[in-house]
Amino acid sequence: MKVLIAEDDAVSRTILRRAVEKFGHECLAVEDGRKAWEIYQASPDIDLVVSDWVMPEIDGPELCRLIREEERGNYTYFIFLTALGDKEHLQTGLAAGADDYLSKPLDRNDLQIRLISADRVTSLHRKLAKQNSQLEEMNLRLFEQAREDPLTCLGNRLRLHEDLQDLKGRVDRYGHSFSAVLCDVDFFKRYNDRYGHLAGDEVLRRVSETISSQRRSGDTAYRYGGEEFLVMLPEQNLETAKIFAERLREAIEDLDILHQAREEPEVVTLSVGIAELSPENPKSADTLLKEADQALYEAKKLGRNQTCAYTTNLTKPS
Ligand code: GH3
Ligand code: MG
Ligand code: MG
Ligand code: MG
Repeated sequence: MKVLIAEDDAVSRTILRRAVEKFGHECLAVEDGRKAWEIYQASPDIDLVVSDWVMPEIDGPELCRLIREEERGNYTYFIFLTALGDKEHLQTGLAAGADDYLSKPLDRNDLQIRLISADRVTSLHRKLAKQNSQLEEMNLRLFEQAREDPLTCLGNRLRLHEDLQDLKGRVDRYGHSFSAVLCDVDFFKRYNDRYGHLAGDEVLRRVSETISSQRRSGDTAYRYGGEEFLVMLPEQNLETAKIFAERLREAIEDLDILHQAREEPEVVTLSVGIAELSPENPKSADTLLKEADQALYEAKKLGRNQTCAYTTNLTKPS
């Protein structure tokens, strides 16, 4: 253990320090509470503080309170030095957060017993803290995994659902607007049939990578369904969303992924539908997605590999 001793009596301090070192622990010793507090703050690895009760600057109980108020990962065991038979001090000390006490003058056996307890308690705390941080890390990973599509690493429907609530809240509260861009790979069934499902998976990965590289920070992308992707663009209206959608559609065509099971162009392409949610035109998030789907259907109907924006006179998909 790393032990810090705070004791203003020089003789008592030296005896204590030597004894602690003899029992195999690293030891720092200071003559008042303020110095002890400064060293404690600068040394995150102190396991045990042995402190006198009456000291200049900061006394023992105050030092103990300060240490207990400080948030740190490891537990600091705190032992008071008290004059023999001073039971009243003892209770106050324990109330201030101390774990144990040692009577003065020092008895080496007593000290050894206290050091063994302190060692046991601090190592147990260390083990628990490590397990806790591992659990937290695992929880965080599971949380992320539950919201991620394993094939493309884009957000899945659960993440979309949560993000939509946030976005919708921003529209309602702050009058912001946003657009939904729904993309669908053209003739993808034929691609699978011709090149195999694994090659199809690779196409989905490349499309998702292209989406990720085209989107700006703040935009969020999701795998919406099998070969369907959704990008949410905060602060974008239909016009600016269309510029993004067209750039993305062209980038997919430029990947030049051969698709000979379809008419010209014999490469993988996207059809895209866009819709907008703004304070002037309020609607539910579900309605917004339905509108984007209607616009996508229109893009398919007009010949695929193109972008359509939602308007009220579009025909509904059957
Ligand atoms: P359209 O141009 O009208 O969109 O035609 P399409 O063939 O792309 O659409 P359709 O809905 O008929 O077929 C979608 C295909 O996507 C069928 C399905 O097998 C495939 N698909 C869905 N999820 C995956 C996946 O994870 N991997 C692969 N390889 N294919 C998938
Ligand atoms: Mg003293
Ligand atoms: Mg589809
Ligand atoms: Mg498709």
